[in-house]
Amino acid sequence: MPDEFFSPIFDNKTPSTYRYFDGEQWRESESRKTIPIISPVDNTIVAYTQVVTEKEIDAVLNHAVVSQSGWENTALNKRVSIMHLVADWIRHFQDYLTVLMTREIGKTHDEAKGEIVRTADLIDYYAQEVQSIRGETLDSDNFPGFEKGKIAMVEHVAHGVVLAIAPFNYPVNLSASKIAPALLMGNSVVLKPPTQGALSALHLVRIFEKAGVPKGVLSAVTGVGNDIGNYIVSHPNVSMVAFTGSSDTGLAIAGKAAMKPLLFECGGNNPAIVLPDADMHTTAREIVKGAFQYSGQRCTGIKYVLTMPNIRDQLLPLIKDAMTEMVKAGDPRSLETKLVGPVISEDAAIHIEEVVNEAILQGATLIVGGKRTKALMEPTILTGVKPTMRVIAKETFGPVMSFVDVASVDEAIQIINASEYGLQASVFTKDEGSGIVVAQQLNVGTVQINGSPQRGPDHFPFLGVKHSGVGVQGVRYSLEAMSRVKSVIINKPQ
Ligand code: NAP
Repeated sequence: MPDEFFSPIFDNKTPSTYRYFDGEQWRESESRKTIPIISPVDNTIVAYTQVVTEKEIDAVLNHAVVSQSGWENTALNKRVSIMHLVADWIRHFQDYLTVLMTREIGKTHDEAKGEIVRTADLIDYYAQEVQSIRGETLDSDNFPGFEKGKIAMVEHVAHGVVLAIAPFNYPVNLSASKIAPALLMGNSVVLKPPTQGALSALHLVRIFEKAGVPKGVLSAVTGVGNDIGNYIVSHPNVSMVAFTGSSDTGLAIAGKAAMKPLLFECGGNNPAIVLPDADMHTTAREIVKGAFQYSGQRCTGIKYVLTMPNIRDQLLPLIKDAMTEMVKAGDPRSLETKLVGPVISEDAAIHIEEVVNEAILQGATLIVGGKRTKALMEPTILTGVKPTMRVIAKETFGPVMSFVDVASVDEAIQIINASEYGLQASVFTKDEGSGIVVAQQLNVGTVQINGSPQRGPDHFPFLGVKHSGVGVQGVRYSLEAMSRVKSVIINKPQ
């Protein structure tokens, strides 16, 4: 059944070659160029994807523009029904998609399944929430100096064509979290999936197609971001860019996008402050979960813990105990493996290992881990890390957690606020009042008190400041961001 449902998207060779979706048909590119997708799990070729040409991008974007107004004028209840059907199909194919995603990006079986099920729930929630988004009317005489006589009719309208660019680490969820709200608000969408993760994302696009999204309204173009990205981002037919990825890519794209509206989720390098009165057992477990889930390849992973040396010494044995219980590095396809599988590629693992070794050379102490076998990096803990060391000065997207010694909470706050990142931070304390006081001084999008950073629940606002992002996501916030306000002002004859 899955093979039949998904059959148009790839050929029947082994390994197969995937097609791109021009909004109407699954096609091979005229470029005749393809990209091998290598599994980080066993280094085999999972499949190939197309490298689309600029001419093909033009055709896709022209079709997206032409189809958009018909879609925006389609009854909302119809768009809502299509989204619920998408969610149902995702649940239906969850096992099939889990196996694919695990092989493609090395996410452990449970985490891959969790991403897929959560995506179905998220799409249902968008479809429910969109029905409460309403316009308003405003009267002129509320403003000083104005009489009655003008009424503004304020509506939420679509931007037009939304370019959705997703990262490798949540290829299904972070594609759907852009596609669904954009479609519900009446936009057409062109997806540029991550190269590694494209296979999972293309399956998602097929589900949207089968659920009834009309021709031209959703399409997917593949190719390496660095090669085709600039052309798409700066294309005049793109009205808005919704991007998730690293801060460096985000900065580059923002320059190309000129005055198009942006919704960006970028790198995170999230710290945790542990106050002396924290419940050390809970804190240790939250730190382990936050640091090592999906091998530390989450924008919301905990990357460093700031605390006083005596607190660090109390925490370390508890963290080691929690690691024994909660973490088992290995093959992500095995149900025995917990939290840590291979990172996305051997090159990525080599980079992580280098950054760890550099920190050690600069004076940090290796407490656990530090070794690498191909793409599998051991869960690693360092102490004595300084804010200037690359391992925490830049985002290290892997299973590495650092302790930074501080003399006071003020010093911890200062270090966090000096970072180029500002996604989330955690504060651990039994006194929620003290936690709030610290939280109020941190220049980040969200502060978690007694919990590790995380995105969900998905209707909470989610945002980064500084190089961690632009705009706010979260079900209602995303729907609002994927639309713009338009007013029609009725001037009554005097
Ligand atoms: P990435 O290398 O920045 O790539 C992200 C996406 O951008 C991919 O689809 C990539 O395509 C594309 N891209 C690359 N260069 C481009 C260009 N010049 N123009 C247009 N698109 C371009 O990030 P990643 O390694 O996939 O993902 C990990 C990063 O994402 C981490 O920094 C993580 O913190 C961040 N992230 C942030 C959040 C959040 O919510 N804040 C959530 C998840 C991930 P290719 O794959 O073809 O290169």
